[in-house]
Amino acid sequence: MNRLLEDPSVAPYELLVGRDALRELIGVELDRVRAAEAVPPFEVIVQRLVTRVQAHASAGLRDVINATGTLLHTNLGRAPIAPPAFDDARAVAQGYSNLEFDLTAGERGSRYDHTSDLLRRITGAQDALVVNNGAAAILLILDTFARGSEVVLARNQLIEIGGGFRLPEVLARSGAQLVEVGTTNKVYLRDYERALSPRTTLLMRSHQSNFAIEGFVDDVAPAQLAALGRRTGIALVEDLGSGALVDLREYGLPHERTVQDAVADGVSLVAFSADKLLGGPQAGIIVGTRAHVARLRSNPLVRALRVDKVTLALLGATLRLYAEPQSREAIPLFRMLAQTGDDLQARALRIAAEVPAATVVDTQGRVGGGSLPQARIASVAVAVACAQPDALAARLRQGSPPIVARIEQGCVLLDLRTVEPKWDPALAAALTDALHEPV
Ligand SMILES: *Cc1c(COP(=O)(O)O)cnc(C)c1O
Repeated sequence: MNRLLEDPSVAPYELLVGRDALRELIGVELDRVRAAEAVPPFEVIVQRLVTRVQAHASAGLRDVINATGTLLHTNLGRAPIAPPAFDDARAVAQGYSNLEFDLTAGERGSRYDHTSDLLRRITGAQDALVVNNGAAAILLILDTFARGSEVVLARNQLIEIGGGFRLPEVLARSGAQLVEVGTTNKVYLRDYERALSPRTTLLMRSHQSNFAIEGFVDDVAPAQLAALGRRTGIALVEDLGSGALVDLREYGLPHERTVQDAVADGVSLVAFSADKLLGGPQAGIIVGTRAHVARLRSNPLVRALRVDKVTLALLGATLRLYAEPQSREAIPLFRMLAQTGDDLQARALRIAAEVPAATVVDTQGRVGGGSLPQARIASVAVAVACAQPDALAARLRQGSPPIVARIEQGCVLLDLRTVEPKWDPALAAALTDALHEPV
């Protein structure tokens, strides 16, 4: 205990965590040493202790290595934000800004102007509004257009997304009356036509998000539904969910309907998240016609759902990266998708060369975040077969930074597509350490 307390690598942490906590952490580490079959070298004990103390000191929200192969892992913070975006955000966050100040006129401006220009240009929509997240966007739209009236939605789109957000319940909550049309597998335009009443104020479409219906199915093309809306003067709103702004076929993924597609189809209001396939910070974006967005803006609820300046700065900077395909690669999501199988293989081989128990395997990752539920992304993983994969995965999670792996058929897999290459040496070291004792 005393030797560890006074070790030059350990002693400085006393100031950070306090003497009592440091003693306690040493106690836990010593218990681990006593439980092991062979006592590890002193330096290894010191290294583990330092990792443990660092983890203790930074308890709370912290960065982790996502080795699950799921690009938009909701539990791990969804989309990583592009590093250059922080240059803009840092200045805005640390100082004053023109958040609600029109520098040309010298008078009060709107916080939404900074991103709506960019969103208009990218999506082709007439106007845009940004709120806290996708759920808030839906809530605002329903509260504005559907309170005390009827909303027509097909039965194949009555979704529940993560966190228990059920569309029918949100509808009920906002005082709207849901009018279901079609069946689970089939819906036709005539179903919508028949459901319209003088009390209908909204036609709604929702992305199926986290599931797919296959087989004997029929759906109504969004453009047809938009035309019905125009004929009858009823707004069509589409909950697009992940909000892709580029055609994902460029990255070998199946086609995902883009925001531009929805705008071109004539949808009145399109809602989507900024931290899914857009690759930005958490926010909910609504784009649509000038008149419909104007009605949203005048809803007092906008004030309760408003986004902060840091989010707006990060979102604006991320959207600017969409100007060119090269600048877009600064968004981690696209950089990860663009990695070739050969690159991943080479990285995996380098890691496995340092960890005797590890092998290199081909595997499949996912998009996640409720996007493209059926798509698989070819990837490469470092794999360790062992008797207790859960125990090995738990050890990796307790490292610093923690590593979140995937378990498949008794193997712990570290899928490299979602791991920044800068972490490769840390991954090799953490695996070596975790395998020091039998699992
Ligand atoms: C993700 C998702 C939402 C909710 O968006 P958040 O940003 O998570 O609030 C709503 N609808 C669909 C279809 C989604 O996929």
